[in-house]
Amino acid sequence: MSNPSELLGDKRKGDEVALPDPDTHIRLNPAAAGKFRRTKIIFTVGPSTASEAKLRELIREGVDICRINMAHASHEWTREIITRVRKICKEVGRDIALLMDIKGPEIRTGPTDKPIVLEKGKAFDFLMPGHEESQPEDGIHGTTVNYPSLIEDLKVGDPVLVDSGLIRMRVVQILPGRIRCKVEIPGTMGSRRHINLPGVHVKLPAITQKDRDDVEVGIQERVNFYALSFVRQPEDIDILRQFLDERDSEAAIIAKIEDQQAISNLDEIIDASDGLMVARGDLGIECPYEDLPIIQHRAVKTCINLGKPVIVATHMLESMMENPVPTRAEVSDVAQAVLELADAIMLSGETTTGIYPLECVHVMKRIAEKMESAHKADPNRNLKLRSHKGKMLRSAAYLAHELDNAAIVVFTRSGHLAKRLSSLRPQCPIYAFTDQPALFHRLMILWGVEPFYIEFFEDPEDTIQSAFTYLVRRGWTKEGDTLIVITNALAHEKVIDTTQIRTVELKP
Ligand code: PEP
Repeated sequence: MSNPSELLGDKRKGDEVALPDPDTHIRLNPAAAGKFRRTKIIFTVGPSTASEAKLRELIREGVDICRINMAHASHEWTREIITRVRKICKEVGRDIALLMDIKGPEIRTGPTDKPIVLEKGKAFDFLMPGHEESQPEDGIHGTTVNYPSLIEDLKVGDPVLVDSGLIRMRVVQILPGRIRCKVEIPGTMGSRRHINLPGVHVKLPAITQKDRDDVEVGIQERVNFYALSFVRQPEDIDILRQFLDERDSEAAIIAKIEDQQAISNLDEIIDASDGLMVARGDLGIECPYEDLPIIQHRAVKTCINLGKPVIVATHMLESMMENPVPTRAEVSDVAQAVLELADAIMLSGETTTGIYPLECVHVMKRIAEKMESAHKADPNRNLKLRSHKGKMLRSAAYLAHELDNAAIVVFTRSGHLAKRLSSLRPQCPIYAFTDQPALFHRLMILWGVEPFYIEFFEDPEDTIQSAFTYLVRRGWTKEGDTLIVITNALAHEKVIDTTQIRTVELKP
C-alpha cells in the first residue's frame, strides 16, 4: 500500500506456483525473547550441514539465507537441498531464502601426472593451447592453462599467483605459445590449481556455459538470489540480468567483488546490481591484504548510501572449522562487520565442511546482538531520498527514535520502501508486509527488516488490521504497543500517503 500502483498492482507471472502459506511461512521470533537481530546470517550448505537434522538445527538457530556454492554442487544435489530446505522450513514454521553462488569464469593450471616442485628463482612455463607438446625445454617445468587469451592479457613484470596465492611467480618473457615466469615464492603445484592475477585486466567472459546451466536450475527451483563471482564491471551484471529477464525471473543479483578491477568500478557495479558481496577470500589474494579492511569499510558504506544490501563474507570464523570457540581476532572481525552495519555476515567453510556449524551460527548471533545493542546513531543522512514519500521515510525513522520501543510497519509490493527504510538504519525494527511471495524471500537479506507475507485488501485499514493481528498473534508486538505505520489512506475518494502513529488494538 505504499502507493496506489503498489496497492492495486497486478500479481506477477508465476507467483501462483510460489505462493507460500501465510500460516506456515512465518519467521522465528527473536523479538519475543527481547532480542531483535538486525544483521542477517547466511550459511553455505555442504557435507556438514546437508542432512535434514543439521538443516533443522540451523534454521531453528536463526540463519536467514542458505547459500549453495555451485563451484562444488551438482544439479541433482542442488535440487535435493532446495527441496529439503523448503520442507524443513514448513515443518519448523520459519522460512529462509535461497542464494545460488555461481562460479563465473576461472583460470586454472592444467592436469599434471604428479605434483610439480617449484623452486625459488627457477623458470616455469605456462603453455597455451596448441603448444602443450612443446615441454619440457631445457629442464624447465611447465603446465597448460584453461584460458587461451592469458598470453594476450599478461605482460612482462606481472605477478601470477597459484593455489590461493601460496605459490608466487612473475612473468619474465612472453614467448611463442608460452609465458615464462620466475618463481618468487616456491611450493608444490598439483593438478588444476586456481590462478590469480592481481591487478591484471583479464578479458574473461562474465558468465560461462556452466553458469548458464546452473542458473537454469536455479530458475526452475525459484532461488531468490544469484551471487555472481568475479564481477569486474557493471556490464557483467547486465549480462546475467538479461539472461534472467528473458526467463521471467525476478531473482536478485548480488555482485561478488573479488579483484582490483571491481574496486575501481565499485560505484557502477553497486548501481547495476541488487546487492554486493565483499568476497574477502579472493579479494585478499588479488589485493594487498592490508587494503582489505579499507575496501570492506568503503564497500559497506557505499552500499548503505546507495540503498543496496551488502554481505561481508569469508574467513569470519575460520578457526571454528575445527574448534568450538572463535579466536579473539575472529570475534573482533565479526563485530567490525556488524558495527559497520553490513546487512549480512556469511559462513562458508565453517558450515560446509567444518565440524561446528551450529556453534558458528550461535557465535555470530551473540556477537551481532551485543554489537547492535550499541547502535544509537541517527538515521542515515547520506541516503538520497528524492520523492516526498522517500523523505517521509526518514521522518518516520526519526519519529521511531523519539518513541520508546516503537517499530515501523510498511506495506510493499515492489520492496522499494522496505529497502529505503533499511538503508536509513533506524534503531527500531522494520516490519515489512508484502503480498508478493518472491519479494517476501528477497526482503530477508535487508538489515533490520523482518518480512511478513499476508494478503492485501482493497481498503488499507483492513490490511493494517490484518498486519496488527498477525504481529500480535506471533508475539512480535502486543496490544497497547506503539507502531509507526507507513501506508496509503483513503481521504474521501483520494489515496494519500501517510505516516501514522498507531496504538495496537485488535478489533474483536
Ligand atoms: C570469496 O572469495 O571470498 C568467496 C566468497 O568466493 P568463493 O567462496 O566462491 O571463492
